[in-house]
Amino acid sequence: MCGIVGYVGTRKAATIILEGLKRLEYRGYDSAGLAIIEGGKIKVVKTVGRVEQLAKEVAKVHLTGTVGLGHTRWATHGGVTVANAHPHLSSDGKFALIHNGVIENYSQIKAFLLTKGYTFTSETDTEVLCNLIAYHYAKERKPAAGESAFLESVRKALRHVEGTYGIAALCADFPDQMVAARKASPLILGVGENEYLLASDASALVSSTRNVVYLKDGELVLITPKEFSISTLDQADVSPVVDRIDWKVEDANMDGFSHFMEKEIFEQPLALENAMRGRFSEDSSTALFGGLNLTPAELRQVDRFMFCACGTAWHACLVAEHLIERFARIPVEVDYSSEFRYRNAPLDPQTLFFVVSQSGETIDTLAALREAKRKGYRVMAINNVVGSSIAREADGGIFQHVGPEIGVASTKAFTSQLLIGAMVALYVARLRDMSFNDGVDYVKALKGVPDLVRQALKQAAHIKGIAQRYAHYQDFLFLGRLSLFPIALEGALKLKEISYIHSEGYPAAEMKHGPIALISEKCPSVFFAPKGEIFNKVVSSMQEIKARKGPVIAITTEGAELPPGLADEVITIPDCHEAVLPIVATIPIQLLSYYIAVERGCDVDKPRNLAKSVTVE
Ligand code: GLU
Repeated sequence: MCGIVGYVGTRKAATIILEGLKRLEYRGYDSAGLAIIEGGKIKVVKTVGRVEQLAKEVAKVHLTGTVGLGHTRWATHGGVTVANAHPHLSSDGKFALIHNGVIENYSQIKAFLLTKGYTFTSETDTEVLCNLIAYHYAKERKPAAGESAFLESVRKALRHVEGTYGIAALCADFPDQMVAARKASPLILGVGENEYLLASDASALVSSTRNVVYLKDGELVLITPKEFSISTLDQADVSPVVDRIDWKVEDANMDGFSHFMEKEIFEQPLALENAMRGRFSEDSSTALFGGLNLTPAELRQVDRFMFCACGTAWHACLVAEHLIERFARIPVEVDYSSEFRYRNAPLDPQTLFFVVSQSGETIDTLAALREAKRKGYRVMAINNVVGSSIAREADGGIFQHVGPEIGVASTKAFTSQLLIGAMVALYVARLRDMSFNDGVDYVKALKGVPDLVRQALKQAAHIKGIAQRYAHYQDFLFLGRLSLFPIALEGALKLKEISYIHSEGYPAAEMKHGPIALISEKCPSVFFAPKGEIFNKVVSSMQEIKARKGPVIAITTEGAELPPGLADEVITIPDCHEAVLPIVATIPIQLLSYYIAVERGCDVDKPRNLAKSVTVE
């Protein structure tokens, strides 16, 4: 959430910052701004709207400075206005600050600063922090020998702050320096040739450098054109570790598709291939995970799993619950990260924790991880971004390896989480009582996923036609059973996220206990009706909808015989193993919601009010 870019080097900072912001726009896009040091003064350009708009405003100003920072905002405190857009200036004009996160005690600090004569032009918590830095700078100008007064003022201010932040600051008195710091919000330092970049996300850096330092919580970095130094809030020096990002700038391009979401839907066969590569045993009867850091003996001691996640990842956890309970016969609990953290759930000592987050920066999930660790549990992470906060803090985990996901509505990250969940179920089941032969069948099914997804994607034109016929409806139900109930939830979420249509997901049979009251010719139902034991039960639910004139879109599998005329629209996916069915069944609902959103003229990759990687509570 919110994009941060900083530059200290020899090139024109504004150009690099605008390019970086463009790449980060998916993290927040209600307003944007930048600040550049020009001749010892800070110049700020801000605008409401997209980075494109900011670029137009920047083009009107002569900015040649080589030190600067920029921000795309996802508002938490104060509406979407130019005044609230970042960067914020201190009332004396000396400091500029950009910020991702929330300063929870901002009102107390603001009240204090008002008594000291500081003035405020915005409603944000960020401006309060900016003035607090200015206050400390004015109060204690004389730093000890070798210290930067700028850095020390930021450090002192941050010691008084409660909440979360990824910040970058400029000071007019130190025109070639930038100071940045983080607590719970991501910040990465890019180490280039004679230049440094700072960003909340690697995608803003990769066109300049792939050498990065992941800042840790409680660390500050002082950057000059020649060097950088990292220290903690307690003034301890930190030796930096330079990592290398393994993906290329092309990975974050649209490749001729109209939207990132469309590109990411269609690249799923390859993404899923990558997510499982090298993760099967030699005899192909089980899965292998290098990063769990648990021996089979330790895993056998586990008698309960707990999964925490938010949004789409939470749906993936529900599918994992189904598969682990079904195949490994171990009880699984799934919780929203935000609820787990505060509800103080009683936990069994032999519980193994998993947290799931594409970005690895979802703050609610990071907090759940910390809470579980505080209580002495081992926590495994399933996430896509190597070097993310969650990946670093977990005791072990599994990377999704699907490359950057830019579309705000998750697609390939979700299906790869489903895949990894299915692999975990297999791995644990094979440690218990799944037979060798069943293991071999299971692995064969998993290996077949990319092809199954390819086949499901062939329905795209057919689904586009359905989308065109149904895009005008205002309400939808998504109904599925067992492992497809979470996919019904996901279908409803996808549709509401990107097309703003009210939609709800339910277990198909549960529909008659309430939601059926919504049914009329104005409310279509999307049913998952795969071949199998409960096919006839789902068909009965469909009949109940039809009897009340509700339009029915059925997603069924090859070989299932729906009564003729029952469904108004039928989408057929390949028949497949139970463990992979949720993945294959996800494809039609991704395509349906995507094409409906396009048909309604919605901004698919940047849906209103949303942003990728939710780093505020
Ligand atoms: N709390 C700050 C604001 O509302 C920062 C929000 C963000 O992370 O974009 O402006």
